[in-house]
Amino acid sequence: MEIKVDAIVLRTAAYGESDKMITLFSLQQGKVAAAMKGVRKAGAKLRFAAQPFCFAEYVLVKNGERCTVTGASNMDGFYALRENIEKFYAAASLVGICDAVLFDGIVNEELFLRAVNALREMCEGDEKEALISFFLKALELSGYMLDLSGCAECGAVLEGKVFFNVAEGNFTCADCAKGAGVSESTLAVLKKCAGGEFDCEKISDDGKRRALKLLYAYFRAKTDTNVKALEEYAQLLNGETTCKVDS
Ligand SMILES: [Zn+2]
Repeated sequence: MEIKVDAIVLRTAAYGESDKMITLFSLQQGKVAAAMKGVRKAGAKLRFAAQPFCFAEYVLVKNGERCTVTGASNMDGFYALRENIEKFYAAASLVGICDAVLFDGIVNEELFLRAVNALREMCEGDEKEALISFFLKALELSGYMLDLSGCAECGAVLEGKVFFNVAEGNFTCADCAKGAGVSESTLAVLKKCAGGEFDCEKISDDGKRRALKLLYAYFRAKTDTNVKALEEYAQLLNGETTCKVDS
């Protein structure tokens, strides 16, 4: 049976002499694994479609449990993400988050459309903010929405020094103070990326780095899942060296 899906590549693995196994996040079928034959040969026609973050229409042939890609038309290769290491890691983190929250065969149209938009934003603008916004949305769609509307104990507006309870996923004011301290910049970044009101002057690169760290700590507490690319991206933002990623 032949089917066509709009999909982005979450992950690829080489196998055999010149083949690849790719994991797709598709609009129509959710997560799908498919083989691409001969795609590692020089000059292979579908080489582009076996690259991370490629967004294309894939033609899949299903034979029982096995899926093989027989055709693909490129919609967006997001090439700008391959030319900048920070953008590359932000995008790798995004697909890693998708991979971690998606179960095989479960369709999630909203997450798919958000992922495509976020990859586009990463190409053109601030990849950290695009990733944080996407991460907040992915958490919300997975049932782990972060409540930034006020102190979880007394309802006071969250401003100045606040605290974050990783296990509960909520914030408290300086008086109620439950959990770990959160910088003003981190809070401003989270508010901005969640689409709320924020203090523009408080936004900083350090706040973005810390916001990502906070979200990942919360994500891990809820899902017990690691996203390797996100850990490598955090190291990169900390100025530490990272291991090399092949594409
Ligand atoms: Zn309070």
